[in-house]
Amino acid sequence: MPNFERPDAVFEEAARRFATPFHLYDEKGIRARARALKAAFSWCEDFEEYFAVKALPNPAILRIMKEEGCGLDCSSETELILAKACGFSGRDIMFSANAMPDSEFEFARELGAYVNLDDISHIDILRRHGGIPETVCCRYNPGGDFKIGTFVMGNPGEAKYGFTYPQLQEGLKSLRELGAKRFGLHAFLSSNTIDNDYYPTLARILFQAGKALAEETGLELAFINLSGGVGIPYKPEENKPDIASIGAAVHAVYDEVFPEGRVAIKTELGRWMTGPNGWLVTHATHHKDTYKHYIGLDACAANLMRPAMYGAYHHITVCGKGDLPCDHVYDVTGCLCENNDKFAIDRALPEIDEGDLVVIHDTGAHGYSMGYNYNGRLRSAEVLLTATGDYRLIRRAETPRDYFATLDIDEAAEALGLK
Ligand SMILES: *Cc1c(COP(=O)(O)O)cnc(C)c1O
Repeated sequence: MPNFERPDAVFEEAARRFATPFHLYDEKGIRARARALKAAFSWCEDFEEYFAVKALPNPAILRIMKEEGCGLDCSSETELILAKACGFSGRDIMFSANAMPDSEFEFARELGAYVNLDDISHIDILRRHGGIPETVCCRYNPGGDFKIGTFVMGNPGEAKYGFTYPQLQEGLKSLRELGAKRFGLHAFLSSNTIDNDYYPTLARILFQAGKALAEETGLELAFINLSGGVGIPYKPEENKPDIASIGAAVHAVYDEVFPEGRVAIKTELGRWMTGPNGWLVTHATHHKDTYKHYIGLDACAANLMRPAMYGAYHHITVCGKGDLPCDHVYDVTGCLCENNDKFAIDRALPEIDEGDLVVIHDTGAHGYSMGYNYNGRLRSAEVLLTATGDYRLIRRAETPRDYFATLDIDEAAEALGLK
């Protein structure tokens, strides 16, 4: 059970120091992943990981990424502000466009970031807002189904992202006329893939397309951006992607398509980097028996939306009860007035008592950051287990004052006793 290896004492100690619920992150684990990724691609000169900020947008985490030599993948003004505040600039920022306000192109160009265009119409927007850089990246959508062997891993034809191939041919030619000299090619064709063949299969598609487009358009192919999508085993029995073999398999394809080298590789992993290094630490607060057996937690979907949004599985353990048989079947719920607010449905667990410390695993990516304020529920704190074994509060929990901060009606604030 590779993801579930921290002893209960880690969570118990954290819960002694901070009120639940909170997300706990493990600095050592995050650094280890950053290093393993770098090692896996060390054969490629100029390899760079651009950590996907949306997975875990906390400055304490982003600074760790910086220390590990990573850049950042940003997709909004606030993510760019975060990157800037954490000392990232220039080629250490990838700005992935996607139907965003034009002004964000200007900001990205001001920071010297790489711009990854999502559509042929973005070329003109970039020309007018920030200008066409010498090196520009384009996002490719090959359409149809994305298969590894005969297995359908995703269907890009239904995805809103990227240029079609003919649009890349046309778009790159106009980028050249507008002064671009080099290009990068990016694609994200399948999310959370635990199959080691994802990156190598994607790499072949991108390498071949990039090579052909360079020949056709006269632009130099500067880099291939394999983007995110390497997954983690949310279920204990699932395959754990092996980043070293993934790197080696991409290397083999690279040598085949680019015998002379020179093309750089970029990645934008989010989930793989931090997902397994985060936990939502909660207490069981309610127990209810009706047509089913329910355990209510002090956390809800506002703290972790993936189960409600995608029916996603998150492993759950109960501190101090790891050795007990999983002979009770529960729905594990939050407090929202929304029946989707369930962290688990029909989950076999040891008997849970009110007051038990319940840990929801693999919340280190797309966990806190996907949170929201439905029902007036407030987002939790974030705590970092540092490399030296300290527990550091890296984001306080929201208070009602935060929730009301965007109201512009003075009387409302006064009436609520907030002024
Ligand atoms: C979300 C996203 C990522 C990260 O995806 P993971 O599944 O977390 O690896 C990378 N690049 C872009 C453009 C994204 O939108």
